[in-house]
Parts: sequence; structure tokens; C-alpha cells
Amino acid sequence: MASRLPKSLSPADGGARLAQLIGAADRIVVFTGAGVSTDCGIPDFRSPGGQWSNNMPISFQDFVASADARREAWRRKFAMQPFFDAATATTVHESPAHAAIRALNDTGRVSAIITQNIDNLHQASGIPAERVIELHGNGSYATCLDCSERHELDDIRRAFEETGDPPACSACGGIVKTATVSFGQPMPRAQMRRALGETLASDLFIALGSSLVVMPAAELPAIAKQNGAALVIVNNEATGLDALADLAIRGDIGETFACWMQSRADRGANI
Ligand code: NAD
Ligand code: ZN
Repeated sequence: MASRLPKSLSPADGGARLAQLIGAADRIVVFTGAGVSTDCGIPDFRSPGGQWSNNMPISFQDFVASADARREAWRRKFAMQPFFDAATATTVHESPAHAAIRALNDTGRVSAIITQNIDNLHQASGIPAERVIELHGNGSYATCLDCSERHELDDIRRAFEETGDPPACSACGGIVKTATVSFGQPMPRAQMRRALGETLASDLFIALGSSLVVMPAAELPAIAKQNGAALVIVNNEATGLDALADLAIRGDIGETFACWMQSRADRGANI
């Protein structure tokens, strides 16, 4: 009787299989979560002790209904901003996870990077912005909820530090919010549609650094698999979709792709 594959492999044991799957694919989607940015100094959402786990998220409904909630949201935003600024300016260029994604992109067969992250780090790492689909928006700027006017964080911060008041739109007086999707806020339709199209068109879907629990984004890996794509999951902890995956690697993203590159080099392959 054939032995069953274990549910997940270590980076060293999974590297060769990963190289095979990538080598055989024509159209790859990379799907990322907070775990691709932890080595840039931005804590993920669910790991214990992370700055995010100390605060209950502020829902969209609360943000819109209450000036106090908006004040608190902006206070938290500016408290976290130094991590994002440092990551954008320097750390992302040394990040093994982002280097791995660039190497994948360099195969010329990545059609999209679908991200749940709001940190703008794929773009900062050198991936063309048009290839990145942001499901949860972008925290590096703000928009007016009423007229969609863009507002820059530096201007908001200056005024916030002076007055302690949450910002109002200079064009229409509306509520200004980071250009991110909060809990309770509708998903951006165009991005969801594009993400679904890319997922259905892919023949290899690689999920990196996501606990795969935030819906509806986390439905995409299962949709890809049901549609006939091969599914790879690389994450430090188990996910609910590991059993469905063609390859689930339990371990560090950078280490996994170092093993992938080694395996390519061993085979003399450049894809
Ligand atoms: P998550 O925190 O739920 O899951 C991240 C997973 O990555 C964890 O299971 C963790 O074990 C794993 N991980 C961390 N570092 C890793 C590494 N180096 N190698 C392999 N695995 C690693 O994140 P999620 O699934 O993206 O959901 C969180 C939500 O919060 C998202 O909607 C996202 O928008 C938001 N968020 C974004 C950021 C960001 O933009 N950087 C950070 C925190 C939260
Ligand atoms: Zn406005």
C-alpha cells in the first residue's frame, strides 16, 4: 500500500517538490498575508504578543459612528507608523520573504500577487504596482469616505498632533480614514473581482504567511484548488486548508524559498 504523505513538510523536505510544482506551472498566483512582512518588523495579527493582538480592532461601523473611535484609530495608526516607515525605507530590501516573492515574480509566470496586507511592501520591494491586488486596501495614505479625495498621512499627523481631533476632508468635510478595509467594511469590488479572475485562471496558487481565516480573502485558495490549480501553502503554523493542499510546508517563508533555489540550482534549472 502506498504510504500517505504527511500533512505538512519542513522547508528542507518540501523544497524539491516546490521546485517541481513551480517548474510545471504556466500561470502562478501568489497570495500573501501578514507573515510575509514579519521579517520587516511588522507584527502579524494572530501571533501572541503582537501589538495588534493587544487591541480589539475598531469596526467600520464604530469608526463612522463615533469621533472617539476615530481618534483612537488614528492614535493607533500613528503609534504603529514608525514600524511601517522603517520597513518601507530599509528592511523590506533585506527581507527573505519579499526576496522570495521577487524571485518567483522573476520567473515571468506570476500573473498576480493577491495580498491581504495593507503595508505597501510588495510595491516597495520592487514588484510593479499593477501586479499587486490589495484586498484589504493600503495603509500608506488615507481617503475621504464621502468624496474619495486622497489625503496624505504626514498632513493628517501634523494636524492630529496639534489638535487631537480626527481629520475631516478638506474638500467636503467628510470623514477621512486610512485607505484600508476595516472589519465590517465592504470589500473593494473591483479588487475582489480581479482576484477571483486571477485565481480561476491560475494553475498554481501559492499562499504565503497567512493563517487563512479572514474571509472572504481566505476562500481564494480553496477556489483555486477546486478549479484545478495546484495549491501550495507555506506558513509557520498549521492552517485549516493544509489537508487540501498539494504541498503544505510548515516553516519560515525565506527558509523555504532558499531550499527552493537550492533545489533549482541542483537541477541546473533557472525556473
Ligand atoms: P495572520 O496574522 O492571521 O497570519 C499570519 C501567519 O503567518 C501566522 O499563521 C504566522 O504563523 C505566519 N508567519 C509569520 N511569520 C512567518 C514567516 N516568516 N514564515 C512563515 N509563516 C509566518 O495574518 P493574515 O492571515 O494576513 O490575516 C490578518 C489580517 O490582518 C489581514 O486581513 C491583514 O489585512 C491584516 N494585517 C496586515 C498586516 C500587514 O499589512 N503587514 C499586519 C497584520 C495584520
Ligand atoms: Zn471629501
